[in-house]
Amino acid sequence: MVPPRPVGPTSIVFLARGLELVLARDAFGALRVPAASEVLPFADGVHFLGMLGDTDTWAAPLAEGAALPSGLELVSARALFDLVDMSLFQVGGRAIAIAEWDRSHRYCGRCAHPTELSKTERVRTCPRCRVPFYPRVPPAVIVLIERPGEVLLARNASFPRPWFSTLAGFVEPGESLEETVAREVREEVGLEVKDLRYFGSQPWPFGRSLMVGFNATYAGGEIVVDPKEIAEARWFTKDALPQVPPKPSIARALIDDWLDRQKA
Ligand SMILES: [Zn+2]
Repeated sequence: MVPPRPVGPTSIVFLARGLELVLARDAFGALRVPAASEVLPFADGVHFLGMLGDTDTWAAPLAEGAALPSGLELVSARALFDLVDMSLFQVGGRAIAIAEWDRSHRYCGRCAHPTELSKTERVRTCPRCRVPFYPRVPPAVIVLIERPGEVLLARNASFPRPWFSTLAGFVEPGESLEETVAREVREEVGLEVKDLRYFGSQPWPFGRSLMVGFNATYAGGEIVVDPKEIAEARWFTKDALPQVPPKPSIARALIDDWLDRQKA
């Protein structure tokens, strides 16, 4: 992607490291998106992300060892959700993914020679063995399982959260999305599903994977959870739902859609 102009004072630059962004905190403790001039001194390169209206947006990896001045701090990218609208939140997510890709591919994974950033394409290439390193987006499936009047929701064991959610898992090499759904559901809760319907997709978390959402119908089996992954899984009715994930997650969108359909 070729930027229409170089990065400058009116650009939006998200300085990122891991799953964190550099945000500004004012004297009253409130966070805001910093101006480009505030964060560019600490950037180790910039990557054009695209235009948001008339504003050019950029990702920048935080330079190793950079000492941020007071007033600037690394904050979990989730904090951005409370500060900006959905489109800028998504730009922040993309910035995190691009900055992390750039930082993680400075050396060739095959021969360890330093890679070079292409000027025309989003790729780092090894000048010695010509291996290209493109940003990769691992696909994952997320599935809402239902039977008449009930929805299956589960509480995760490995990332303790207060809420029950839909089942999810990463696609393995050589699998179709349909096969991933069948395998994940079987592994995590011991059930069989049928009538898989595509629901929608969402880059999540923060652009580092693509969640592909489905609805599915229960086809058989009794709930037997894999305790390594699932603390608890149960069927719920619409009047006795547990705490569910917050917006804007696709899990919540799947659950809200199911609730809407129960009213019909
Ligand atoms: Zn190489």
